[in-house]
Amino acid sequence: MREACFCGWAGDVEDREPVYAGDGEWGLRCPNCGHLDLLHWLPEGAKRGTLEGAQRRWNARPQPAPAPVWRVVASRQR
Ligand SMILES: [Zn+2]
Repeated sequence: MREACFCGWAGDVEDREPVYAGDGEWGLRCPNCGHLDLLHWLPEGAKRGTLEGAQRRWNARPQPAPAPVWRVVASRQR
């Protein structure tokens, strides 16, 4: 499902970051402007599926470059 944000960003709905909005509500954050879409425009079932898809995609996203060795060492000492 394609989605566009008012800031001009466009991409898959699931490519946005799933964010807990409080009150049992989840939303998807635009990677460009940070706008939080609570998906109220989607029926409940579709909303849940979309959020699950986004969560899966978010967890499977390419990881940033590994931290420099000194940082890894420092965190192991804690
Ligand atoms: Zn945006």
